[in-house]
Formats: sequence, structure tokens, C-alpha cells
Amino acid sequence: MWFGWSGEARAAIDADAVSVNQVGRITFAVTDLTKRDVDDYYLGFSNRALWPVCHYRLDLARFNSKEAAAYLRVNDLLARKLTRLLQPGDLIWVHDYHLIPLGQSLRERGVEDRIGFFLHIPWPPSEIASALPGYRQLLASMTAYDLVGFQTERDAENFGRCLVEERIANDLGEGWFEGQGRRFRIGAFPIGIDTEGFAKVAEKAVALPAVKRMVATMAERKLVIGVDRLDYSKGILERIRAFCAYLGAHREEKARVTYLQVTPKSRSDVPEYKQMQREVAAQVGEANGAYGDIDFTPIRYLNQNIAHTTLAGLYRMASVGLVTPLRDGMNLVAKEYVASQSPDDPGALVLSRYAGAAAELDGAIIVNPFDATETASAIDRALSMSLGERKERWSGMMRHLEANTVGDWWRGFIAELGSASAEAGASATARTSIRA
Ligand code: UDP
Repeated sequence: MWFGWSGEARAAIDADAVSVNQVGRITFAVTDLTKRDVDDYYLGFSNRALWPVCHYRLDLARFNSKEAAAYLRVNDLLARKLTRLLQPGDLIWVHDYHLIPLGQSLRERGVEDRIGFFLHIPWPPSEIASALPGYRQLLASMTAYDLVGFQTERDAENFGRCLVEERIANDLGEGWFEGQGRRFRIGAFPIGIDTEGFAKVAEKAVALPAVKRMVATMAERKLVIGVDRLDYSKGILERIRAFCAYLGAHREEKARVTYLQVTPKSRSDVPEYKQMQREVAAQVGEANGAYGDIDFTPIRYLNQNIAHTTLAGLYRMASVGLVTPLRDGMNLVAKEYVASQSPDDPGALVLSRYAGAAAELDGAIIVNPFDATETASAIDRALSMSLGERKERWSGMMRHLEANTVGDWWRGFIAELGSASAEAGASATARTSIRA
């Protein structure tokens, strides 16, 4: 059963209503939210406080007590609705930053089943995380879970240190923590993709009309591709600057490379995102004005969503995947780019050291995305890399992605959640019997 927000905002909602639909093997149980809750809980605390703080952007974080209260209120409302649907022995897996206190609200309502939590975005060091209003309360609420999963070891370590520094829980070693009367585990579970599926789709997608049209307009130029939601964490402005630095330093290469940036709008109701949309559009315009020619547009910018299948074909056509977020939990685009390549002529990946994927994709050219000169040289290196080196780098990354798919990810988490709660249960029984 998938349980969550329907995506609908209404003037008022029934505090107990849930709409249940069966689609294939999945039961979808969804609830609407009030317009006020969407503003304060979703656009407000989740996306203007938690998101920037977790992406190390205190400068963009906006705190307000009304929104912080809405965050707890909506999580409690969701717990109330979910509790009514649960059956004994259920296993609950809570996903992402919008729902951090959901586990605690469920426990307060008497739910004793196994509950796991996975954070898809980064968890910053305590110096940054502690800027969140209600920081200690938020940390304490996470002890309600049996297993708390992060994208990378670094995120898991940051979180463990926050718990210990605030004396919310003690580190018992090997990922085990104890605090607030509970024993629980923390671990890194890097999310994967459907590697084989993506590779198959990409192979066929090069025959799609949209991909063929793109190739027809390339006139033998090499393609550099960037694909990101319009979000300040993705480093799009810095990337355009780096591409301009590349063009500036390689005048002879001008007109031999085209950079396609696919950037669907996201969270347009959040002011910081609206402003960024204007900034990116202006910067692309300036770059094309400065570096283009009557028959050459260096940057093609699409401010719209492209279907997954078409994207796979475009990834495959691209000589360079340019994935340079300033901070990213994982970045699936990096993995999709690798999975889409032709084994006979794979492209090269330029990857930010601040993407979670950098901990796994060691065949990428790793860059500091804040350094335009370094990123520009990496673009040059990627474009001029020999076929032998490209194959060697790519095959290592592809093997890793084949051995760590999205299926392996969820199976690994669920297995660990089962054993984490069994061991914690065993130790709780042992403690009870010692006290007795
Ligand atoms: N994506 C898409 N169409 C687009 C742009 C992106 O389908 O026009 C997909 C992309 O293929 C990837 C996801 O959106 O699967 C983005 O995931 P990622 O982890 O890279 O970043 P997020 O958006 O979750 O921060």
C-alpha cells in the first residue's frame, strides 16, 4: 500500500477521509490537504526550511513558527489517517524530508510495528543542521524508527554525530544507537536505478523521432548534456559559467560542441525558484549572445519536462554527461547517463564531488562545481578522452550499477529493517528480563 498526499489542495478537508484505489498490485491510499497546509507545511517548512538546510544553504532558508507548527500538525494528521489503515504485523517505510516526524506520531498512536525511514536528500553536519527551528525535537523524533537510512556514509555519520552531540542517543557501534528509551540502527543505503531497463530503453530510444530530430540538427557537433529540475542545489548557473569558460578557453573548438540543458520547472510557487528561473534564462541568453554565431547556438535550454524514454536516447547521443550539483543526496541523472551509454562508444561523465553518486561512480571525472576553471578543464578532458579510456571508466561504473540496482536498494533496506527490529526486540526482551 502506498500512502500519502494526493497532490490536491482544498479549502477544507475531512480529518478522517482517505481515498483508496487499486492499481495493479498497488493500493493507493491518499488524502487531500488544505490550501493552508500546502502553503505552510509543503511549500513552507518542507521546501523553504528543511530543503535548503539539508542542502547546506542556510542563506536561502526561511524560518517561521507558523510553518514549523504546520509541519508537525500535518505529520500528525497523516499518522492519524494511516493508523486506521494499518494491520498488525505491517511493515512501514517512511520516505523523505516531508515526513520526518511521522514515525513518532505513529508511535504516539500506539503503532508498534517495524518502521523504517529513508532520507533521499543529504543530512548536513551539526553546525548546519542545528540552525533548524525545533532541531532537537526533530532529532528526537527520528529515534521512533527502527532503521534510519541515508544515501551516503557521510550523511549517516553526520546524523549520528548530531544525535550524540545533542545527547539524544548514544552510539553503540556498528550503526546501533540507543536513546529516548529505544534502540535503533542508522545506515547508508545508496539508491540505484533500473540499470538494465534503462540500458535497453536507451538502445531503442535513439530511433525515437525526437532524438533523430535532435541528431539531425547537430551537424557533426558533439553533445554535452545536463538534466536537472530547476533547483538552486543543482548548480545550473555555475555550470553555464563553466561551459562559457570552456568556450572562452577553446575558441578553436567553438561551433564543434553543443550543450543541451534540460530543466523542467519545479516548485514554482516558492519565490527562490521563481527568481532562479529568471536568472538561468538570462544567463543562457547572455552566453548565446556572447559565444554564438549566425549558424551556431552554443546552449540549447529547455525549460520543460522531457519523457524518460526520450531522455535515455539523448543521454546515449551525448559525448559528455555534465552533472555538477552544488549538493545532491544522490543524483539519479548521473547513474542514468552511465546506464544509457553504448558499450562500443561510451560517453564520459563529469560529476560533482558534492553529489552522493560521487561516492560510487569512481570512473567519472570528479569536479568542484564552484570552480568554473576546473569544471571547464574537465569538460575539455571529457570531450577529448580516448575511446580506450572512456570504455575502461564506463565499464567499471556500469558493473557497479548492474550490481547495485534500485531493486537491490529496497530489498537491502527491507532486509535490514527486519533484522534491525528483531535484534532491537531481542535486546529489549533481554533488558526487561535483567530488570525483572
Ligand atoms: N527527469 C525526467 N525528465 C526531465 C528531467 C528529469 O524524467 O525532463 C528525471 C530524471 O530522469 C531522473 C529524475 O527526473 O530520474 C531526477 O532525479 P535526480 O535524483 O537526478 O534529482 P532530483 O530531481 O530527485 O533532485
